[in-house]
Amino acid sequence: MSASLDDLPLRDDLRGQIPYGAPQASLPVTLNVNENTHPVPEEVADDILDAIAQALRDINRYPDREFTGLREGFADYLGHGLEPEQIWAANGSNEVLHHLLQAFAGPGRTAFGFSPTYSMYPLLTGATGATYVSGTRGEDFTLSAADAAEQVERAQPDVVFLCSPNNPTGTPLSLDVVEAVYEASQGIVIVDEAYQEFAPHDEPSALTLLHGRERLVVSRTMSKAFAFAGARVGYLAADPAVIDALRLVRLPYHLSALTQAAATAALRHAPTMLGMVDDIVAQRDRISATLSALGYSPYESWSNFVLFGGVDDPATTWQGLYDRGILVRDVGLPHTLRVSAGSEEESTAFLEALASL
Ligand code: PMP
Repeated sequence: MSASLDDLPLRDDLRGQIPYGAPQASLPVTLNVNENTHPVPEEVADDILDAIAQALRDINRYPDREFTGLREGFADYLGHGLEPEQIWAANGSNEVLHHLLQAFAGPGRTAFGFSPTYSMYPLLTGATGATYVSGTRGEDFTLSAADAAEQVERAQPDVVFLCSPNNPTGTPLSLDVVEAVYEASQGIVIVDEAYQEFAPHDEPSALTLLHGRERLVVSRTMSKAFAFAGARVGYLAADPAVIDALRLVRLPYHLSALTQAAATAALRHAPTMLGMVDDIVAQRDRISATLSALGYSPYESWSNFVLFGGVDDPATTWQGLYDRGILVRDVGLPHTLRVSAGSEEESTAFLEALASL
């Protein structure tokens, strides 16, 4: 007989909480967690393997605690005149966000996000002992500068999350919202650009706003556009002082030598690694257009997934797709489901299965 959580001296604030748990089922077509369904290109895989093999020869030693080469790689990739001193990285952008909250949230403090948004924000916030406060969005999940600033002004949170484009809705966020929220707050403002590479190429990133804003942070991930989710690599750009704050809370040597080697090698091939982005965007737009034709209501998306309304009973539709070998996500928003844009075949399989229900 094993014990239950109630038998343990668990922190009071963790009692009754539910862990993150998107189903991991091995179905033929998995479009539920916004992964890039395309494998790493063969020619890059070989180079990454060589880099890992080399790192393995020194694996008896602790890795470079400052992951110097990797930070240089991210600074190069991001451009915008960023220096390696402005870069931080960790095991997925989830850990990047965790470091930020450990440094700037914590007991007695608050973090704020505009619902519906990324479901990990409240969990990550709670894990540091801070309180999460939910703001609101318009009917269509958009956010105006005036409304966002007013909500943040009222709440005065220590940390604000701006998810751009937003998960799970795909909604774009314009830079005037970032500027207005920054002005309205005294805390750290995190722009989570996990899906930025899927936005129209001529749309500016919040990276353009970093100069002169020492409380602004732009976080990114290799999990989506780079097709590197299994390697667990996320990163951010901010003022060097923010990076110093994160050094206070990270575990020593948090990025393994193997992770550093793999990510640094992958970044050397950024254009090839990102080669499928345009294809994924084309599938996303085809999914949206076909969903409309089928009578559903897709929301505008600048990401690699589509949230669509007009689903009478999401649980039944989800099960119907599951039974046909297709995994999508019920994010709990009434009458909606969310689907990641896969390859052409996967996207077609999803659309045909949905049409057959
Ligand atoms: N931010 C957003 C908005 C996300 O959707 C995700 C993953 N679904 C993450 C951060 C975390 O990604 P990772 O830890 O793989 O970098």
